[in-house]
Amino acid sequence: MSIISSDISKAIALLSTEELVAIPTETVYGLAGNIFSEKAIKSIFQTKKRPFFNPLIVHIPSVDLLPTIVSYIPEKAERLADAFWPGPLTLVLPKQSTIPDIITAGKDTVAVRIPNHPTTLELLNQLDFPLAAPSANPFGSISPTTAEHVNDYFKDDIKMVLDGGPCQRGIESTIIGFEGDKPIIYRLGSTSIEAIETIVGPINIKNKTEIAPDAPGMLDRHYAPSTLTVLADDISEAIQKYSDKRIGVLAFSKPSDHDAVAFQIVLSESTDLQEAASKLYDALHQLDKQDLDIIIAERFPDIELGKSINDRLQRATVRA
Ligand code: AMP
Ligand code: MG
Repeated sequence: MSIISSDISKAIALLSTEELVAIPTETVYGLAGNIFSEKAIKSIFQTKKRPFFNPLIVHIPSVDLLPTIVSYIPEKAERLADAFWPGPLTLVLPKQSTIPDIITAGKDTVAVRIPNHPTTLELLNQLDFPLAAPSANPFGSISPTTAEHVNDYFKDDIKMVLDGGPCQRGIESTIIGFEGDKPIIYRLGSTSIEAIETIVGPINIKNKTEIAPDAPGMLDRHYAPSTLTVLADDISEAIQKYSDKRIGVLAFSKPSDHDAVAFQIVLSESTDLQEAASKLYDALHQLDKQDLDIIIAERFPDIELGKSINDRLQRATVRA
């Protein structure tokens, strides 16, 4: 049985004895273990049923520790860390030889960030090792943004969920890698491209989908509800098309009044993209529990966090 608790000393005791603890971050909850414990790291992959080719993000409490994780820091990486840490931006950089291969899936690069959550920063500050912490969900399913979501997935598998309340940002970190000294976006996330471009100028997105892609979070189908979910440019058209079914709607700002809609969630009546992002996964969790035939999700405006939301919706859905 796992226990939802906000007792940091208990989390420290478990992590220090090679156990896993689910931890809160500003993006989503992570399933955390000591990066230097082979037992803990293997257990992360087993618990999540995550393939070993999918590397983990290392979480540190301070930029002072970055040189203990990575062997080279391009000038633009330094600028990005200055601008966005602690925060939802992950940097992929050449690894130090001390970083175990299981963390990086054998790559010579490692992903690292400083999460922006007071509980987890305090936890990291008190530990004498960094934490690897992929999202605390079974591989391929919707990421957790509350302690209860984690408990629903893993209550029989882990000993503790460290409760830090609902995640404020709600979508995974944006991942940036480097080709030479040139930054490239490997995964869209909670730090918008527009914000990143104000620091480093125009940046490309690399969208690979082979078996062991540069950023495996970019796999085509991911973050998916078990209910059939479609992505629609026009919600009312899609409702007409499926009107013989029990429909759930996930809308950006406006509710639908069609009779076929059995359940709906409006993410932000005031069209605030950050509010919508923070509620997205909880909404998918809720919709997935309603015994619906189909979930119709509305496509977001393709700007700022709308791009990241659309990215996740595309991976959660088939086209309407
Ligand atoms: P998660 O923690 O579940 O959000 O997943 C972490 C993601 O970080 C992986 O799916 C990869 O996309 C990315 N990642 C971690 N390490 C590396 C690396 N060395 N190179 C490229 N991407 C990485
Ligand atoms: Mg994940």
